[in-house]
Amino acid sequence: MKILVINCGSSSLKYQVLDMENESLLAKGLVERIGMEGSVINHTKTGLDKITMEVPMKDHKDAIAQVLAAIQNPGYGVLANMSELGAVGHRVVHAGEKYAESVLITEAVIKALEECVELAPLHNPPNLLGIAACRELMPDTPMVAVFDTAFHQTMPPESYISAIPYEYYEKYRIRRYGFHGTSHKYVAQKAAYLMGRPMEELKLITCHLGNGASVTAIKYGKVIDTSMGFTPLEGLVMGTRSGDIDPAIVTYIREKENLPQGAVNNILNKKSGVLGVSGVSSDFRDLEAAVEEGNERAELALRMFAHRVKHYIGAYIAEMNGVDGIIFTAGVGENDIGMREIICADMENLGIKIDPLKNKVRGKDTIISPEYAKVTLMLIPTNEELMIARDTNEIVSAL
Ligand code: ADP
Repeated sequence: MKILVINCGSSSLKYQVLDMENESLLAKGLVERIGMEGSVINHTKTGLDKITMEVPMKDHKDAIAQVLAAIQNPGYGVLANMSELGAVGHRVVHAGEKYAESVLITEAVIKALEECVELAPLHNPPNLLGIAACRELMPDTPMVAVFDTAFHQTMPPESYISAIPYEYYEKYRIRRYGFHGTSHKYVAQKAAYLMGRPMEELKLITCHLGNGASVTAIKYGKVIDTSMGFTPLEGLVMGTRSGDIDPAIVTYIREKENLPQGAVNNILNKKSGVLGVSGVSSDFRDLEAAVEEGNERAELALRMFAHRVKHYIGAYIAEMNGVDGIIFTAGVGENDIGMREIICADMENLGIKIDPLKNKVRGKDTIISPEYAKVTLMLIPTNEELMIARDTNEIVSAL
């Protein structure tokens, strides 16, 4: 079956077409500036050069129409006609407590997701726009929603309830949800494969370290804890997000700086993290270049990032009473050799040892610990689109 995977943002949209016969990528693309001047579609058929076309697109329906035209184009398309497309898989950020697994999209599912909009006001509305546009343009094609929160729904309440008056959970569903679930699940499954053992026998810690970053504890195939919380702000130090801080800081800064409502939230999400500490950049490559030039705050920001990852690894080893494998993925986890080394340093007493030679690798599935080490350290590039396509294929094939 050929599957179109859609990841819809407010003004951009990423897509891939995969052939699930052999899980191969046929084409991928990015639509940008939807609803603005100069909207553009970048499309790449596997094996050909990327092409860029500037086309007016006033809304998400126009954007999806352009995607469908591109993937059926006789020159750079990958489908002879729409009947070749078996299904569409949509990435949806937040399913609240409603779904612990991917689902076939129906009217009832859309209604349930509309109810989750309050929990993800920036992400769910564009995800829903993408679904609505696809349903209008492809009314007969089955569609599946795959959620970032779903994999984390197995957490026990001691992990997900916040220690504030319980009525706020009951009234507003304030709790830990966790994010990047599709990525954590993908790399955990791949790690089990690399280790040659079923996930149900393993204790794993998955570190998704990108611009947004989170760590997850997966015991015998089920998530028992994760570092992101009610929103993707909690947990690790990130590119521009603070991660864990004393909540009293929020009101303190607001009063001291006489800031309007919402301003501190913006500071914690957009101006903090390694950017806020270094004053240089949120990009680890820029920070490493600044360190080379002797910038001490850039060095501090990187040390703080590593320190917080280590903090969560230690916590999750305690929660699981051990760990068999630790996985690094996403932009920093897949590419930053030095960062993986600093995170894994000085943990020999926990059975964690990195092999500096094996670690000298970027972006490919690799075991980076010595054979004798008790804990298997791995670098596994994430592939959320493939995971979405797999779930979509499974659900639609069973119809
Ligand atoms: P997201 O999907 O959350 O936007 P990514 O997973 O693509 O983020 O990660 C992007 C980040 O990865 C960049 O901001 C940069 O800090 C980091 N990164 C990418 N390549 C490298 C590299 N070669 N060395 C160090 N860091 C890198």
